[in-house]
Amino acid sequence: MESAEVLIIGAGISGLLSATELTKSRHSVLVLDKGRGYGGRMATRRMAGTRLDHGAQYFTVRDKRFQSYVDEWLAAGIVQEWFRHLPKDRNPGGYPRYCGIEGMTDAPKYLARKLDIRRSEQVAKLERDGKRWIAHSQSGNTFAGEHLLLTAPLPQALALLDTSGLDYAGSASRDLRQVRYEKGLATLAILDGPSGLPSPGCLPLDEAPLTWIGDNTSKGISPDVSAITIHADAAFAQEHWDSPDEERGTLMLEAARKHLASSVTEYACHRWGFATPVNPWPEPCFANPTLNLALAGDAFGGPRIEGAALSGIEAGQAISAQILANAKTTP
Ligand SMILES: Cc1cc2nc3c(=O)[nH]c(=O)nc-3n(C[C@H](O)[C@H](O)[C@H](O)COP(=O)(O)OP(=O)(O)OC[C@H]3O[C@@H](n4cnc5c(N)ncnc54)[C@H](O)[C@@H]3O)c2cc1C
Repeated sequence: MESAEVLIIGAGISGLLSATELTKSRHSVLVLDKGRGYGGRMATRRMAGTRLDHGAQYFTVRDKRFQSYVDEWLAAGIVQEWFRHLPKDRNPGGYPRYCGIEGMTDAPKYLARKLDIRRSEQVAKLERDGKRWIAHSQSGNTFAGEHLLLTAPLPQALALLDTSGLDYAGSASRDLRQVRYEKGLATLAILDGPSGLPSPGCLPLDEAPLTWIGDNTSKGISPDVSAITIHADAAFAQEHWDSPDEERGTLMLEAARKHLASSVTEYACHRWGFATPVNPWPEPCFANPTLNLALAGDAFGGPRIEGAALSGIEAGQAISAQILANAKTTP
């Protein structure tokens, strides 16, 4: 059984930044993720020999703790400023919107280089064995940690914790279960010519069923192939959750057609079961120090990459402080 001081479930931005903070403080950390890559909803997909971002499209920075990471990524040539200003911005000067040079997974991949991560490990059951947490994955592997941090979307994290049979949240349990996520639906399309989207190559929309059309070519991640990402609103995603791609993809492409200068040659849809939290938890993370347990992610930090990042940073620092406090009280 592999073990570490801290076991983290989820290699999205929150889990990766928690792991980075803990590693900087010299704690041993093992991260598990069910996906084949890193980044969770910061996701880039290959299609028609090119790259398209199908989850988060860009990120913004307001807090100096996240800014210091972004400065490092900029210096390392991992991320770039995509644009600063959209016609509807209230602040006419705008503010930077960043994206990965080759896709939104670039920053997660960069963070992952220095971390111990097991991919394709979907945790299916948790239990507490004396003072340790034990995670059993679907592949039959078992991992142990003195501390456990879950960063999966909150409803998934709670369902996983329920398998332990423990009362892990006490009086907060009911309120944690009230946090809800909206579903999301992306259609990725290859075009036979330039998209024709206005500069900077994206169109935020409030035009049911669409919320966004982004040009991966203008963004720079699909230099040789004209490739767009279209996002639907939550109502459409809910209504067409089980529709075949031929139906939901066609409806989204029809709605997008008036904004496009070229025709679609190929497309695919992607479902997001937990796209963004509707009513995030008011604190940046949740901790049960008696059980050495913490929860983090955008359900705590807010429905953006920066919110998830700050939640992860805070959770990592809180766990580190708790490990040090425990060490002082242990004879
Ligand atoms: C379509 C879409 C568009 C978005 N657009 C933007 C945007 O433009 N700008 C912005 O700032 N934000 C955007 N967001 C939101 C942003 O992507 C998220 O807030 C952020 O990425 C969440 O990070 P996280 O670490 O909290 O969770 P996640 O990225 O979801 O990471 C959680 C990880 O946990 C793993 N996991 C889950 N269950 C298990 C399990 N049982 N075992 C092992 N691993 C597990 C998952 O595989 C995943 O990698 C968008 C989201 C979506 C879906």
